[in-house]
This record gives sequence, C-alpha cells and structure tokens, in this order.
Amino acid sequence: MDKIFVFDLDFTLWHLSGTWCDCTCPPYKKVNGKIYDSCNAEMNLYPETIAILENLKSEGYKLGVASRTDRPDWARELMRLLKIDDYFDYKEIYPSAKTKHLSRIKEASGYSFSQMIFFDDEYRNIADTQALGVTAVFVKNGISKNLVEKYK
Ligand SMILES: [Mg+2]
Repeated sequence: MDKIFVFDLDFTLWHLSGTWCDCTCPPYKKVNGKIYDSCNAEMNLYPETIAILENLKSEGYKLGVASRTDRPDWARELMRLLKIDDYFDYKEIYPSAKTKHLSRIKEASGYSFSQMIFFDDEYRNIADTQALGVTAVFVKNGISKNLVEKYK
C-alpha cells in the first residue's frame, strides 16, 4: 500500500466517558464485556473505531498510534482491554510533540511523511505535523468511517 494511517488516542479513537487517558482512575475492570475504571466510568471507544481499524487492516494498510499521554502504561493497558492493540504495527506513546512520534514511525516503517495520513483532535498537533508534509486531518467528534474513507 502507498499510505500509512496513524491515529491519536484521546478524543480521536476513544473518549473514555469524556476524559483523557491520564485522567482516568485505574485499576480497570471488565464487567459484562465492558471496561470501567475504579470510579465506574466506562472506558469506551467511539462507535466506529473497531470497524475502521478492521477495514483498514483487511485492505492491507499499515497502522500506527501517536499519543502524547502522560500515562503510556495506562494507554497501553486500555488498548489491550478495548481490543485495539493488535491492529497497530507502530505504537509511539509518550509525552512529546507529535513531530517526534511521526518521525519515529517514518523511520520504523519506511513510509515518507507525504505517505502518512494522521488523525488528531488538537489543532496544535495538526499544525505541527502538517509542517512535516504529513496529511493531518482534524477530528472533531471522534473518528468516523466517512472521514477515513476520504483519505484512502
Ligand atoms: Mg487527542
């Protein structure tokens, strides 16, 4: 494939009942197939997240995560619990500017910035990565199939 798709986590792939990963309250628990934190907030994805990842993977695209959360350990655990972990070939999860995350994905994958489609809900990240030549897509109300389809 001539493109790689990279996603932010907080407020792009998941919203965790309306907060950021580093503001949740571990330990997490599974109740009736759903994941909650210790404050009983549901740790949820956006409705189309799994279908989008499944579709891109089935079409042969490489996928990456770029998150600047202050709690990479919690983010990784939530990715496993919410069953999105296995879709990603590249995971860059640590506090920094997203230019660093995407530079590392470029080096590890061999894809150029111009082949990278990056989805994020924060303007600063969009601006930083557009400057590299990445196609950076602003996500307003969580990821959606329609939004992703436009960039295939
Ligand atoms: Mg975000």
